[in-house]
Amino acid sequence: MGFFSDNLLEGKVALITGGGTGLGLATARAFGANGAKLVIASRSAEHVEDGAATLREEEIEALPLVCDVREPDQVEAMVDTAIEHFGRVDVLVNNAAGNFLVRAEDLSPGGWKAVTRIVLDGSWFCSRAVYKHMKGQGGGNILNVLATYATGAGPLTVHSAAAKAGVLSLTRTLAVEWADAGIRVNALAPGPVDTHGAGSRLWNSDEARASIAEKLPMGRFGTEAEIADAAIFLVSDAASYVTGTMLPVDGGLTLGEGHLANIEAIQHLLRQSKD
Ligand code: NAP
Repeated sequence: MGFFSDNLLEGKVALITGGGTGLGLATARAFGANGAKLVIASRSAEHVEDGAATLREEEIEALPLVCDVREPDQVEAMVDTAIEHFGRVDVLVNNAAGNFLVRAEDLSPGGWKAVTRIVLDGSWFCSRAVYKHMKGQGGGNILNVLATYATGAGPLTVHSAAAKAGVLSLTRTLAVEWADAGIRVNALAPGPVDTHGAGSRLWNSDEARASIAEKLPMGRFGTEAEIADAAIFLVSDAASYVTGTMLPVDGGLTLGEGHLANIEAIQHLLRQSKD
């Protein structure tokens, strides 16, 4: 059950990158339950079509599109198709990402490029592609999904941390530049949520998961729904005077020792992978 009135996003069209899985799909579900129409896009046709089928079962309309956000031409085509289908795009959620654990000294140029291109380049290409439509229709919302290490250190994820910090900068700069077009630009920084994608890449054992959870001030991981509810707030008119901000939704992670102490669990995983 959601906490908002069912029609909070009525009439809005939201485009969510990485919307076929994990937090992207949960956000699509929550937006849809509050009246929005959805476009969900990622590289894998299976991911977005399965996601759209799941949403259809819940009577939520979602257009699945294949798009690699690293490719500006594919991004332009994705936005054009969304506009052709729904007539407008009111909300863009830059949620697509890639990540993996690696010591900085072992990270190859290719690994660095793979992650920074999805996260930083992809968020910029998508933002750029929706700008003229949002301006033309009198405004819109961009929500960037970051991680708590966007404002701190991201040990063993230097590629992702640098890219997310770059997207935080993008958030702030575009919020200022595009305010006169009626476009609000905000960011959300989730703490750990046990999605399939994050679990398989960042904590793949009960031991690692428990070790991270016990370092969190609230003592537990977040849920997909808790992240999605915060996303609804930021893109809705309830946040009409909020722009250029990053909202941590992290159970206190950024305030406690958990932020850097996660490294113990992560190093344990790395040791396992080298055995
Ligand atoms: P996820 O399910 O693996 O989500 C990543 C999504 O990005 C997938 O749907 C993937 O779909 C898509 N994607 C990857 N590369 C892409 C590309 N080049 N073009 C288009 N789409 C691409 O993991 P998640 O946990 O839900 O993560 C969602 C977001 O939350 C990410 O931004 C992540 O950094 C952030 N976050 C998650 C956590 C957590 O604990 N779960 C914590 C902090 C931040 P395809 O494979 O089909 O392309």
